[in-house]
Amino acid sequence: MELGDRKMLVVGVGKTGIETVKFLLKRGARVSVSDSSPVEKIAEQAGMLESWGVKLETGGHTRETFLAADTIVLSPGVPFGIAPVREAIENGVEVISEVELASRFINKDKPTIAVTGSNGKTTTSTLIARILEKNGRNVFLGANVGTPLIQIADDYDRYDVLVLELSSFQLQGIETFRPDVSVILNVSPNHLDHHSSFDEYAESKMKIFSNQTERDWCIYKADDEVIGKYVPRIRPRKIPFGSGPDGDGISYDGRGIKYGDDYYGLEGVKLPGYHNVENIMAAIAAATVMGCDPRLIHEAVIEFDPLPHRIEYIGEIKGARFYNDSKSTSPGAALRALESLPPPIILIAGGKDKGVGFEPLRGTIESKVKLMVLMGESRFRMERDLGGKVGTLLARSLEEAVEKTLENLAPGDTVLFSPACSSFDMFRSYEERGRRYKELVRNIQLIQSKGL
Ligand code: ADP
Repeated sequence: MELGDRKMLVVGVGKTGIETVKFLLKRGARVSVSDSSPVEKIAEQAGMLESWGVKLETGGHTRETFLAADTIVLSPGVPFGIAPVREAIENGVEVISEVELASRFINKDKPTIAVTGSNGKTTTSTLIARILEKNGRNVFLGANVGTPLIQIADDYDRYDVLVLELSSFQLQGIETFRPDVSVILNVSPNHLDHHSSFDEYAESKMKIFSNQTERDWCIYKADDEVIGKYVPRIRPRKIPFGSGPDGDGISYDGRGIKYGDDYYGLEGVKLPGYHNVENIMAAIAAATVMGCDPRLIHEAVIEFDPLPHRIEYIGEIKGARFYNDSKSTSPGAALRALESLPPPIILIAGGKDKGVGFEPLRGTIESKVKLMVLMGESRFRMERDLGGKVGTLLARSLEEAVEKTLENLAPGDTVLFSPACSSFDMFRSYEERGRRYKELVRNIQLIQSKGL
């Protein structure tokens, strides 16, 4: 892509937007920026852009700015559906994502693995990266997680392989991006507040295959209904995981994973739950087509520690095992966690009320949970939806929730902090919420170890 004198509009000034601007300026493009936040909220970025001589529109988007551009680059999280973007597309302006822009400057021969799905992206892409590293490869892991792809578009050559986690927004804006290996984990309703419909959301995920050829590979969940509808039409070589329709692909027999002549026993694996068996199958398949040694793949899988805040084991207090699943920001994620751990469970849950129903949790809660301690904005709603058959206590803070848990603890219990809600009622992020929970648990352990 020749940038020369091209008029480029970058939408959104988060980390990715700023990196995109820097890249474009270095290449001599004419760059302007539009962000919907008021200028006070993005004062730091505004100052930076001003010092670089970049024109910045804040507090909303105007059609003039969008129609004046030759190419618009959307930051992750900026929906295609917003009015000025739609109008620009109708008027022939090119609209792409930052991943598409970056990929145009990265040699097509650079081996690339792209991972998408509604759930499990970070776990799977990180596991793939660890396996490749164990096999001696120098890996870039980034895009939707960590470093934006555009940040390495100038010096990608120091990596042997790129592992990219991609969101539906990033995929919606691709035109020529072609991964050698695509991994699509699952497609379930998500971000429907930002996509015009579930079909549009699903379509955007399927764009991961759109430029792949017969030489490439696609790894996908065998029994996912939505993915299943698209798979017959795609060009790359296929590896279904779960249970291949014809017994092909990569599968799980209850003890281990079988792929061709190789068998990977799962004894000693630290990732809990069947959903993680799916993530491991996808990662093994990706590593295998990249030529990794099965023995090293197996070692890396066993060594892999769960990522923080995802059914993360913290330790024991009075013979009960404590887990932190602060990344659980929806009832679906909490359900996975409840299914993955042994009863009797004390469930600490609640947070920002997003208006979603909690009923899907009821059956599992009634069969495995001995006590719920509910906190946050949603505690009353959760009590209404889920209480009744299971003992329920309400808490005004996380600290109080942990305190009430301790008062009801018995040896052999599992204590699961899986809020099923986002964190913004009481915390800045799910990470901050998870860190605070771990701190509380560790403080109690410390006090007990000193016999206080
Ligand atoms: P993402 O990056 O897509 O948000 P993560 O790897 O961070 O995914 O996992 C987030 C949560 O999603 C986990 O705590 C778990 O509850 C759930 N999850 C992980 N993998 C899967 C999967 N393969 N299928 C369904 N749910 C999953």
